[in-house]
Amino acid sequence: MSTYFISDLHLLESRPQATQAFTDFLNRIRDHAEALYILGDLFEVWVGDDDDAPFASSIRERLLQQSQSHPVAFLRGNRDFLIGERFSAETGVRVLDDETVIDLHGERTLLLHGDTLCTDDVGYQAFRRTCRNPAWQHQLLAQPLAARRAFAAQVRAASADAMSGKSEAIMDANLDAVREVMARHACTRLIHGHTHRPAVHEAQRAQVGGLRIVLGDWYEQGSVLVVDHNGADLQALRFTVSTSDSGSAG
Ligand code: MN
Repeated sequence: MSTYFISDLHLLESRPQATQAFTDFLNRIRDHAEALYILGDLFEVWVGDDDDAPFASSIRERLLQQSQSHPVAFLRGNRDFLIGERFSAETGVRVLDDETVIDLHGERTLLLHGDTLCTDDVGYQAFRRTCRNPAWQHQLLAQPLAARRAFAAQVRAASADAMSGKSEAIMDANLDAVREVMARHACTRLIHGHTHRPAVHEAQRAQVGGLRIVLGDWYEQGSVLVVDHNGADLQALRFTVSTSDSGSAG
């Protein structure tokens, strides 16, 4: 039995290849997965659990099917932080705390989206504090869906603009932040996404106090971490249909 970890699919109606790859992946693991963990940014944008668009509904239905075969857990990303209890009730997907520790084959393993590790990106961290504020979210969710969709489009455009002016280093994980959060949770392994830089950081073990595994995005191909009693294997997942489009990082 294997446990699967994915993140940063950034599912969007206009990128059907990624959605197809996701559903193919779900079909493939359905009968033998111990659990599936989705570590944030499953969706490119999430305007609220009351989203009645056919695209959102189709993904909810597919997740509900999957969660009847094995546990599916989700941890909020910086794109889909508005996912809440109604989504969980309608999909059977358990929504995890932003910092979640699991016992993975006997090893205390910390799960994060990864955006909190990018502490050098001061502008983003300020934005995160705003949009994670419950009062701010309550006000946003009180707006009609159309207004929320317009607002989300604005934020996405502003985010693309802001990223184009930032260095690669600023948008990567800060290793002091990695070491701090792993120590605070007494974990020797960390799995996260967000940076879209898939890697198993063996060489950083001593510096951060454990093994950091970074999941990749699902733009040109998929990225899956498979963990079983033999160990952890970070795999690229080729899309069956070739794709010419790609999104932006983060
Ligand atoms: Mn992200």
